[in-house]
Amino acid sequence: MRSKIVAGNWKMNKNLEETLVLLAQLSAKMGETDAEVMVAPTFVNLAQAVQAVKGSPIEVMAQNMHFAESGAYTGEISADMLLGVGIKTVIIGHSERRAYFGETDAILEKKVKAALAKNLRVMFCFGEELKDRKEGNHFNLVESQLKNALFSLDAGAWKHLVLAYEPVWAIGTGETASPGQAQEMHAFIRKTIANAYGADIANGVSILYGGSVKPGNAAEIFSKADVDGGLIGGASLVADDFNAIIQAI
Ligand code: PEP
Repeated sequence: MRSKIVAGNWKMNKNLEETLVLLAQLSAKMGETDAEVMVAPTFVNLAQAVQAVKGSPIEVMAQNMHFAESGAYTGEISADMLLGVGIKTVIIGHSERRAYFGETDAILEKKVKAALAKNLRVMFCFGEELKDRKEGNHFNLVESQLKNALFSLDAGAWKHLVLAYEPVWAIGTGETASPGQAQEMHAFIRKTIANAYGADIANGVSILYGGSVKPGNAAEIFSKADVDGGLIGGASLVADDFNAIIQAI
């Protein structure tokens, strides 16, 4: 059975003090939920964030990692370093990594494999840009992102994967895919996985939607059959908003 997940990507926001305050607010205000709740603070605050959420249902995850085990990669972070501070899940392929840091499908495939080899769970992000959608190329683009980065994996790897479909035109723009557009793409993603790996694996993977999810639109997006939760940027930085989104699921 796939799980419901609400995850917050804090990006390059919140210093250590602010991180601990936000985690304390989230834990204090979080109501009952069946969903997995995860947040991704910046690297330098991960160790303290992991300690701060001990005993709460919140999981701290990482925003990125390098594919190499170790070595001369100035400024980078390895899977072992994440594991060493208690991280179990890593985001790979966020559109900002693709757009600003040149992460190609081939690099992302290496990162996914490196993370899985270390028993990290991977939250894999992908999605089309506005021009792809305008040209009617969004399904092809999404299919190629999945195939290029994930379809060389063994079937067994899929239980360690969470997918986050994030149309780039909806990230941080205030523009959201309509619930219908989200469902249409999520159903297409599940069908594409089913064609490659079979229905059981396709039905077992959680597919999150990301792109300007807010307290006001979350319930309708989450109500769609193939939407298993959300990856939340801006609204995850405000405890009341993130909690409202958690309650919406
Ligand atoms: C994101 O960055 O993954 C994201 C979905 O951001 P926002 O919610 O701010 O659009």
